[in-house]
Amino acid sequence: METHFTQQQLLDKDNKSSEKILRKCVHCGFCNATCPTYLLLGDELDGPRGRIYLIKDMLENNKPANDKIVKHIDRCLSCYSCMTTCPSGVNYMHLIDHGRSHIEKTYKRPFPDRFIRNFLSVALSNSFNFRLIGYLAQFIKPIRIFFPKKIREMLELMPTYFPKKKLPKKNIYTPQNRKKPVARVALLTGCVQKVISPQINEATIRLLNRHGVEVVIPKKINCCGSLNHHLGKQDLSNETFKKNILIWYDEYLKNGLDAIISNTSGCGTTIKDYAFLFRSDKELKKKAKKISELTKDISEYLDEKVKLDFIKNDKSKKKYRIAYHSACSMQHGQKVHSKPINLIKKTGNEVVEIPEGHLCCGSAGTYNLLQNDIAKNLLNNKIKNIEKINPQFISTGNIGCISQIARGTKIPILHTVEIIDWYTGGPKPEVLRKI
Ligand code: SF4
Ligand code: SF4
Repeated sequence: METHFTQQQLLDKDNKSSEKILRKCVHCGFCNATCPTYLLLGDELDGPRGRIYLIKDMLENNKPANDKIVKHIDRCLSCYSCMTTCPSGVNYMHLIDHGRSHIEKTYKRPFPDRFIRNFLSVALSNSFNFRLIGYLAQFIKPIRIFFPKKIREMLELMPTYFPKKKLPKKNIYTPQNRKKPVARVALLTGCVQKVISPQINEATIRLLNRHGVEVVIPKKINCCGSLNHHLGKQDLSNETFKKNILIWYDEYLKNGLDAIISNTSGCGTTIKDYAFLFRSDKELKKKAKKISELTKDISEYLDEKVKLDFIKNDKSKKKYRIAYHSACSMQHGQKVHSKPINLIKKTGNEVVEIPEGHLCCGSAGTYNLLQNDIAKNLLNNKIKNIEKINPQFISTGNIGCISQIARGTKIPILHTVEIIDWYTGGPKPEVLRKI
């Protein structure tokens, strides 16, 4: 695609990288065929190609965002299905991130919109705030009919139940079964995940410890920063990114880290992108690159680095038909697809892939809170496709998808790591999630 940035505009690092991305696009439109919002709404501007044109126009002409641009960019799930389809290697992720931060800088949203986005930024990126608001929401729920539609929908989506933690709170979990750990990793426990599903982190720690891996959870790391990043709140997300990079890098230098483990694929995608985000930062460039290199989804780490001790011929363990839901951030963001499937297959269970599995379930970070109608439609489609294959369980590697899918079906849903833990000697997971 031809671009018309001036030399002056290209001095800006974000314009420079967006120009490179735009030049790769040959406007073939193949990406539209796998874009959930284009398929649902049928409008060119609700597909990747249309959004690319909108972003190009804003950036090249140094144009402030307007209502129309914001509407179509806000409807993008950041599912990156278009990136998997694109034959020209267009990095839509970096382009839409730039577009969102340009919107945040140049467009004044209506007050209710601003209020909700600021509220989500404060409520969800901090586990203490999220728990507090979750408890408050339970009191407000019975009188929700008095609130505007958007707030009512958000209240509906708030968790009604916070499972109790079973593992004692520590910063270092050392394997008890051997003198010296075989490896040492840092675990990102996630801001929302540790509140609504602490059992996922507990399964991860138990599983790694049982296989001789020491797990470190640095005290001051809470959120990966992706929530604010996707809301276009660049200053806030950069603060979080910087803090995380410095803490993990310090741990890596002082005590050694073989990997940084993410068991929430949405977070993993962002941490793996820290290297790009700090590509021009003299102080943090090298450190951010190291942090991104060290980051692995738990399924990648288990597959590549751990000799898993599956319990063989255990007659007491029933075998199930499990539908694997490949989270968008996992399959399109991190390009990790077959590893979790192969790991579940090693447990002896049957794994079935969901028809139209490349399409988003509608969770997408804060998307189901901000774009409730589209998210509901995508969830309905996902559930129909899951029910077609008649599974006894669903498994996935992202807490956002777990909570979203659990709202649409009674079929139990487990994080992939809970299944692996269970079939390598861990306890049977609490299967029916009350979210
Ligand atoms: S598939 Fe790729 S090259 Fe074709 S329009 Fe979409 S982004 Fe551009
Ligand atoms: S990220 Fe997803 S929703 Fe957004 S344009 Fe690409 S395919 Fe469509």
